[in-house]
This record gives sequence, structure tokens and C-alpha cells, in this order.
Amino acid sequence: MGRILIRFNEQQVSEPIASQIIIEYKVPMAILSAHINNKGGEILVEVPDEMEKKVIQAFRQRGVTITVPRLIDVNIDRCFSCGTCIALCPVEAINFDKENTVQFNKEKCLGSSCSICVDACPARAIKTVKPNGNNNQVKKS
Ligand code: SF4
Ligand code: SF4
Repeated sequence: MGRILIRFNEQQVSEPIASQIIIEYKVPMAILSAHINNKGGEILVEVPDEMEKKVIQAFRQRGVTITVPRLIDVNIDRCFSCGTCIALCPVEAINFDKENTVQFNKEKCLGSSCSICVDACPARAIKTVKPNGNNNQVKKS
């Protein structure tokens, strides 16, 4: 499944653009997060890999801004297992294993459309990277 971040402006947010694309392309689109009001906003969606390019093109043809969210990466040497990222993650994408090692679940993580852990980490051990970057484990040193 591919993830895309869809940004609607004030005019677009009142139009049924996503619904039209779902119907027209018969594409299942799972909404992972949404931050929208009458001024605009963004939704993070997941679509089948084979449909991703078509869906991106369809939104762009309608003038909607599309980006591919960046992933999370960590600096092993900086983490001191404080647990802040675990406490704040809205989708439980981070946990400690038995060795007090932080484990990220890439499937759950909302990436740069969230970034709460990136901003909150007191050690600045977490950063966002391009989707083909490496990740994802923090070992306690
Ligand atoms: S990655 Fe940062 S916030 Fe998370 S446990 Fe390590 S030091 Fe704490
Ligand atoms: S960016 Fe951090 S806080 Fe947000 S979902 Fe991913 S792991 Fe959780």
C-alpha cells in the first residue's frame, strides 16, 4: 500500500474531490489521518500500490497538492530510552522491546504528516527521511 498526503485549499475542501476519484477509479482509499476545516487542510490516505500513480495524477489534475510523506529515522547513539515518543505517538507506532529498545512500526507510523515524536524527542534522536531512506530501530547504548 502507498501513502499519499492530500492538501486541499479553501475552495477545494468544499468539493467532493476524493469521493469522485474513489468512484471514478474504483480505488479503495483508507484515511489514516485528517486535519481539515472550512479553510482547507490535509488528509493522509493509503491506496493500493498499483493505483498510487493514477490517484496522484487524478488529484493533481484537479489542482490538489499531493506529496508522499517522509518516513521516520532515528539516531541510535542519541536515544536514551526516555519513552517520550512512545507516550505521545497517536497510533502506537512506537514501543519498547524487552531490552528497552525503541521499536518503530513502519506500517502504523504516519510519517511527516505527524512528526510528533520528531518534535518531542529531547535527544533530537528522531528525524524524517525520504521514503527510500533507512530506518528504524533505536538501541540503548
Ligand atoms: S527516541 Fe527520543 S523520545 Fe524516543 S525514547 Fe529515545 S530519546 Fe526518548
Ligand atoms: S511520526 Fe512519530 S508520533 Fe507520529 S505516528 Fe510516526 S512514530 Fe508516531
